[in-house]
Amino acid sequence: MVKPNFHKEENILFKGIQDLSLLEKAIKISIANSLDKKAFIQTDMRCHMNPTRGLNIRKLGILMFRRLTRFCPKCNAVGFGNRDFRTGRQCRVCDTPTDVLLCYLRSCSKCLYQEERAILCSPQKVNPMYCNVCNP
Ligand SMILES: [Zn+2]
Ligand SMILES: [Zn+2]
Repeated sequence: MVKPNFHKEENILFKGIQDLSLLEKAIKISIANSLDKKAFIQTDMRCHMNPTRGLNIRKLGILMFRRLTRFCPKCNAVGFGNRDFRTGRQCRVCDTPTDVLLCYLRSCSKCLYQEERAILCSPQKVNPMYCNVCNP
C-alpha cells in the first residue's frame, strides 16, 4: 500500500499493487502529493493480498470448525477444547522436568470440566539441550 506521507489536500491511497510499474507510479504520485515529498509504503495485510496471512486465517478457520464440532463429555455443551497447557517433559539424560510442552488441557466453558490431552507423535523425554541442569 502506498500513500503520500503528509497529504496536501485529498486522500490518496494505492492498494492491491501487484506489479513494479504500478508501484513506481503510485510512489511518484504519492511523492508529488505529499507536503514533505515522501511516500508512505506499507505491506498490504488484507487476506487476499497476503498469502501468509491468508494461510494462517485458513488454519484458524479449521481450528474453529473443529472446536465448534467438539462437545463436552460431561455436559454436552459445544466448544470443548484446548484452554491451557502444562510444561514439564523430562530430560532424557537426567529426568529433570523442562519447560517443554507436556500436555494441553481441554476444558468446557460451561461446566468447567477439564481433561489433559497428551501430545501425540513426539518422544516422551526431550533432548538435554532444553534441560536447565544439563544445559544451564
Ligand atoms: Zn461441560
Ligand atoms: Zn538434563
